[in-house]
Parts: sequence; C-alpha cells; structure tokens
Amino acid sequence: MKKVFLLFSLSFSLIGALSAQTELDLINAVSLDSLSQTLQEFTGEVATNVGGNSVTILNREQSNNDLAGDYLVEKFNAMNSLTVTDQPFNTNGRNIIATQLGKTNPNDIYIICSHYDSVADYCADDNASGTATVLEVARILSTQCMDNTLVYALWDEEEIGLRGANFYASQANNNGDNILGVLNIDMMGYDGDDDDDFDIDVRPIANSIEMKDDLVALLATYNFNLNVNVVNPGTTASDHARFWDQGYSAVLVGESWDNDDQTPYYHSSSDRFSTLDLPYFHELAKLIMSYMVTKGSLVSVDNSLTVSPSTLTSNMDNASYQWVDCSTNLPIPSEVNQSFSPTISGSYAVEVTVGSCTELSACVDFTSLGTHTFKLNTINIYPNPTSSILTIEHSLNDDLMFELFSIEGKQVLQKVLTEKRSKLNMSQLSKGTYFVRMTQNKKVFSQQIVIGK
Ligand SMILES: [Zn+2]
Repeated sequence: MKKVFLLFSLSFSLIGALSAQTELDLINAVSLDSLSQTLQEFTGEVATNVGGNSVTILNREQSNNDLAGDYLVEKFNAMNSLTVTDQPFNTNGRNIIATQLGKTNPNDIYIICSHYDSVADYCADDNASGTATVLEVARILSTQCMDNTLVYALWDEEEIGLRGANFYASQANNNGDNILGVLNIDMMGYDGDDDDDFDIDVRPIANSIEMKDDLVALLATYNFNLNVNVVNPGTTASDHARFWDQGYSAVLVGESWDNDDQTPYYHSSSDRFSTLDLPYFHELAKLIMSYMVTKGSLVSVDNSLTVSPSTLTSNMDNASYQWVDCSTNLPIPSEVNQSFSPTISGSYAVEVTVGSCTELSACVDFTSLGTHTFKLNTINIYPNPTSSILTIEHSLNDDLMFELFSIEGKQVLQKVLTEKRSKLNMSQLSKGTYFVRMTQNKKVFSQQIVIGK
C-alpha cells in the first residue's frame, strides 16, 4: 500500500511543472541544469551520445566539428514542430538550422543565432555558451505555437570570417526573406568583476535600434539582475554583422567587452566550463528567452494537464484532442476526449489542436492503480458538494482504505473504514476540489468531490 501511494504521489506532483503557458512561465522554464548539461556535453567535459554512440566533443574547429554538427542536428530533431536544415556551404562549412513556422504570420521571421565552431579545445564561453542558449530557447518554445516564425540558427566558420552567417544572410536577402530581427549571441558566460553588466552591440541599420530598445525594456519588465551597456556603433566581429551587411535588423548580446570584462581565456583551451559565472549566464539566457517569446508571440493554447488518481485531463477546453503513448510516440486509438483514464501504467501526453495550432503536452508518468474496479453502486459518497459531513456507504465485506487528496496531489486525509456506513468530518478542510480514492485488495474506486463552505 505504501509503495503504491508513493508512485501515485510522484506522478501526481507533476501538475505544477506542466502548466508553462504564459510568457513569464516560459522565461522561468529556462533551466540552468539544462544549460549546464548542454554546455558540458558540447565542450567535452562530459561524454554524450551521438548516433547511438558514446562520444566526447572536445574540439569544434572548422575541419573537425562534424561530430558537433551531428550533435546539434540530433538535439533539434528531438524537439517538436521544428524543420531541421543541415546546410553545407563549402567543403567543411555546415550551418545547423531549425525553423518553427509561425501559425499566423509565417513570413515574419525572427532569428536567434550563435556560432558553434571554435579555435581550440573546450571553448565554453566562445561559443558553447551561445549555442547552449539557442538550444534551450528552442527546447522550450518548440512546445508552443507561435504567431511568427522562429529560426534557431547555429553558424559554422564564424572564427575564420563569419562565413556561415554570410552564406545564410546573403541567401536570405536574395530570397527576399522578411527577417524582422536577428539576435546573435556570442560569449555570454563570463563576468569577472561580478557587476552583471553585458553589452548590446547595435548600429542604426533597419530597426536594430528598436531591437535594442525592446531588449532594454524587457530588463525592466522582468526585473532581470543585469546591467545593460549599449555599444553604438557596435562591433562587426561576429555573425550579426553579416545581417547588417544585407540591411537586416540585428544586435549582438554578450558579456562586456566594452567594459573590458570579457573572458581572460579567450581563444584558448583554458576557456572551460569551470571559468563561467553560471548565475550571470542563466540570467542572460532568460533575457534572450524573453525577447524571443515576446517577438514570436504566443498563440494562446494551453498544453498543460491535470492529473487525478484515475484520469489525465487537458486544461484546454473546446479543442480537439489526441492522447499519445510516449513510449512509442503513437496516438492511442479512439482516445480523443479531453480526459483519458489509462488502464495501463505508462507515460502519456495529449496533442491539443485549436485551429491551425497543434501543441503536444509534456509526457506524464501515470501509475494505473489496477484494472479492477468495484461493481457499479457498490460505493456511495454523499452529499457532493459537502460543507462538513461526508457519508460513505458500501456493501463490501472487508475494510476499505479511504484517502483524500487535494488537487495538487497532497494526501490530506487517510482512514480505514471498518463500518458499512462511515461519516467523516470535512469542515477543517479548505474549500475546493478533492479526489477520493478507496482501495480494497487490488480494487480501486476514485471520485472527485467538492468541499464548499
Ligand atoms: Zn565567438
């Protein structure tokens, strides 16, 4: 019994984590653990998996970074609703680009980008820091429908002449791509004097100044622990400059070269994960996320779930639903209602569709409490709603375990019922929805009740 309850409470406690739907929730979803893991994998501090093999990505110099490129392709391919382009542009050069098509204005494009090549081993700050941030923003925003198109771009051969970005930007201009903003990140993990300053490099080209203004405004909106330093005219020594060359709006965000507070390990194999200021890096990643989520513009579809002891329910009303088995990624035949009561323990998600927007929820581990249920009308609970006394009647021979859970999954009451009719006092509980679970041997009964005052 105790073990069953433990599993049950674990699956239940996921509710809070799954309701990331507002801009603020998505900004807060930027995880330092996730960023750190990617950074360490991408700089060879820890082994990772590429193509089913355990590998170490120690070096990302231009003729030696195919493994790094393959890693990025796999990361993007594992995310929802992204079209991944592996874009070779010369013998060794290869951009890795993922596109998330806008639902409302697919031709309005915002790009978040960084270069992934390096000049030596490790090179954590330059520029695994930017690369990890692009992947983190993609990980989070790819779960959402956006009005505008987002392009997550990782350039190659920045270090030998901004070649990857040059190829993309000139092609985009030739195609007439309506790129409304390019947010380039290059070196964003070092803050030697701990003053939280960072640079925005900008020039008066297209709407680049407005981009800078929007970023500065977001600092105040979300109260980020950062001090901005605007550099105008900004440096042309990173990929955003190639977009300026084509007349596009672009800025560079990163640690403060202008205040001479850039990493002292620049362009050397001493530029390692351990030298980064992680809280500073995390804060900058959140600022970057705030820009992309604001410009991308969320389509308001809620892909979160509520988990009860017996049922998973989509929190989005008036939509189309398809429940999915996460172990196979396949839809579950005829499970197309807002709620789903799995009879087998497993990991489940729901695909919610409203208009042209389809979002997949996170996968939830659900512990089915058994396939046996009590015969109809064996158990009767009343009144529901109740304000004080709840009566439970049953026609079974053995004792019944009664448990009451709050909507957050916290057990608030547990009692063995030895009588065929029991009265329980609910008046000390706060008003709201609760779940009753009653068990006897392997049989389970569950019901939602409301306590009103
Ligand atoms: Zn760089």
